[in-house]
Amino acid sequence: MFKKLNLQTFTYIVIAYMLLAFLWWTTLLYIKNKDAFDAKSQLLRLGMAAEKTLLTDEEYRAHPRFLELKSGYDRQDKMIACEAIVFIASLIFGIVMIRKGYLKQVEAAKQSRNFLLSITHELKSPLASIRLTLETFLKRELLKSQTEYLSKNALKETDRLTSLVNDLLLAARVENAYQPYAEQIDARQIVIEAVSQVSDRFPKVQFDFDTQDSPILMKGDKTGLLSVFQNLIENGIKYSKDEPQISIMLTTNQDKVYLNIADQGIGIPDDEKKKVFEKFYRVGSEDTRETKGTGLGLYIVHEIVRYHKGKVEIADNIPQGTVFKVTLPVDFEA
Ligand code: ATP
Ligand code: MG
Repeated sequence: MFKKLNLQTFTYIVIAYMLLAFLWWTTLLYIKNKDAFDAKSQLLRLGMAAEKTLLTDEEYRAHPRFLELKSGYDRQDKMIACEAIVFIASLIFGIVMIRKGYLKQVEAAKQSRNFLLSITHELKSPLASIRLTLETFLKRELLKSQTEYLSKNALKETDRLTSLVNDLLLAARVENAYQPYAEQIDARQIVIEAVSQVSDRFPKVQFDFDTQDSPILMKGDKTGLLSVFQNLIENGIKYSKDEPQISIMLTTNQDKVYLNIADQGIGIPDDEKKKVFEKFYRVGSEDTRETKGTGLGLYIVHEIVRYHKGKVEIADNIPQGTVFKVTLPVDFEA
């Protein structure tokens, strides 16, 4: 903190010095230009007197040779002013850009720290739980019902780990080498599959799925889109209190497929709506937040939808909660 403050103060001092020095040089240039003009004007007048052209002050100021000299002087004055404006504007622009970059770096460092904190927890806790289960199996004779209960729990933890590892791998792929595999798919079927997979993990959640009876055919990458739908549905559940209710609406017209996923959860403030798509970004701070996660889900969603030449937007649900609106082209070239 002390180091950062020092560096910042030092930067501000250097910038202030540069601005003051520049103002001083500009003023000096003005004065020198004026001096040069006065000297040239005196020389001209002396020269004219030597040529026996004696003029009053008024006549001299209206003389074409003086006017020519004056217009040269005015031009140089303007040049100095323009140079000063351009230089100061570039300097300010540079400072603003550097500051923006600096703040972005600070934010990225904060997100990375949050990511490390959460990933450590997310990886360690299911592993610890599975290990404990296995140790219990080894050390104790258990009833069948107890074995079943513990095994189910361990399986759930394994699913959690698998989904986390999948997200990590998908995020790495999306960043480096993702190429959507454009095959003919049924969006309706994929949403049904996503709902079924999520509801296996969250049996108490109420789903309301509104769509047409017939298939909704489009071109897209089945695995990628399945992950998009799963992530959005899971978020709806994760960021709802008590009994989550998720409403899904899937419609299509000739060239677009529209998917709305609405929850009645805690909502996303307006100034966070764009940021949540950034890698590792999570609303609030890791030390105070109640839910666990990596902040990769919406990044993956955004990137996969972008690869499909579609878009994803966030709106507020009424009376509360969030609606994620995904628009995908029916036909896209990968
Ligand atoms: P992960 O999905 O990787 O396990 P995560 O859910 O925290 O972790 P994202 O899915 O990228 O990460 O979401 C980013 C942040 O956006 C969340 O931490 C949460 O603060 C906010 N958010 C996302 N979806 C919702 C939602 N439906 N309602 C309220 N807040 C949400
Ligand atoms: Mg998520």
